[in-house]
Amino acid sequence: MLSQIPAQDACLSCGACCAYFRVSFYWAEGEIIPDDMVEPLTAVYSCMHGTNQAQPRCVALDGTVGEQVSCQIYTQRSSSCKEVQAGDSQCNKARAHHGLIPLIEIDTTPPSNDDDYDQVC
Ligand code: SF4
Ligand code: SF4
Repeated sequence: MLSQIPAQDACLSCGACCAYFRVSFYWAEGEIIPDDMVEPLTAVYSCMHGTNQAQPRCVALDGTVGEQVSCQIYTQRSSSCKEVQAGDSQCNKARAHHGLIPLIEIDTTPPSNDDDYDQVC
């Protein structure tokens, strides 16, 4: 089944990737994130609190996965958060885990016939 929901709207009713992966990043990226939302992972990497566990769920995620969600630190979120794009393989892996249908990118550009026909005379 296909979803024709625009990507940004799809994320607001999803949140699956925020409750599936360990969200880790270079420690310095965590400097702008509230301390209680970040935990150290290695000497140089940190992760979002709640994502380094058997059933991950980022502490910054508000709402219910698959219904309505928001990120408390959206503008400060890490590069790892930005990496996952609606409809890519990571996105759909996380969505599948939560029983959500896959997203696909739909080309809404009107088709052109120019390449299919030769001009007569
Ligand atoms: S899993 Fe995909 S659709 Fe869901 S929030 Fe993440 S990027 Fe958006
Ligand atoms: S910081 Fe925001 S975007 Fe990143 S995993 Fe957590 S809730 Fe999702």
